[in-house]
Amino acid sequence: MAWLLDLDGVVWLGGHAIAGAPEAVARLRAAGERVVFVTNFSMTRVAEHEERLAAIGIPATGDVVSSATAAADLVEPGESVLVVGGPGVVEEVGKRGARVVTDTDAGADVVVVGLTFDFDYAVLRKASAAVRAGARLVGTNDDATYPTGEGLLPGAGALLAAVAVASGTAATVAGKPNQPMADAVLALVGPGPHTMVGDRPDTDGLFAQRLGARFALVLSGVTTAAQLPVLPTPDLMAADLGALVAAELA
Ligand SMILES: [Mg+2]
Repeated sequence: MAWLLDLDGVVWLGGHAIAGAPEAVARLRAAGERVVFVTNFSMTRVAEHEERLAAIGIPATGDVVSSATAAADLVEPGESVLVVGGPGVVEEVGKRGARVVTDTDAGADVVVVGLTFDFDYAVLRKASAAVRAGARLVGTNDDATYPTGEGLLPGAGALLAAVAVASGTAATVAGKPNQPMADAVLALVGPGPHTMVGDRPDTDGLFAQRLGARFALVLSGVTTAAQLPVLPTPDLMAADLGALVAAELA
């Protein structure tokens, strides 16, 4: 059994550790629990996630699964891939043995869309043209927004929707709560029963259901007490990860 922790809204928010989260991870590990971090945020390279976690006192080498990894798993080695996304997606597609292309005049087998700040009409035009010409459309995740210290910003789902609409094609989505992400997580931790801790019922809660895991909702992210009750119904609920782990290990 493993503890699968979402990052944004569970471990950190706007780049700052949520109080008590590093200590909670240490307590779980001291109790012999496997802890893995499961994030839909694809822009950052996995090694950078690991460094950021280490910087707040959480060693995490080899313990991070991002939606970029799950998206890259939908690409075959040797394929040419137009990446509309950040360094995290470029790296994972490269690791998979596929070729990242920027000029699609020669055609692309796959278009992978993730979160990037370099998105404009020219990018949308190129990506949708590649899909219309036959490329498969893959999204890292379809979150409409993601939480930052400056409030909610447009997420990968907003960019993916633009490409999908412009190309007239529905995307295959890799990240939580979808099966490719479940496959990537289970490849790392093996069969459950696991506990999925998250702040979003529509991604983390549904992902827990897909894994057959317990869903632990924490109120330290996008879901507030005023929004309760939520579906799917959490198996566990706490103000934050620290309180959750204190109650579970008591
Ligand atoms: Mg979250």
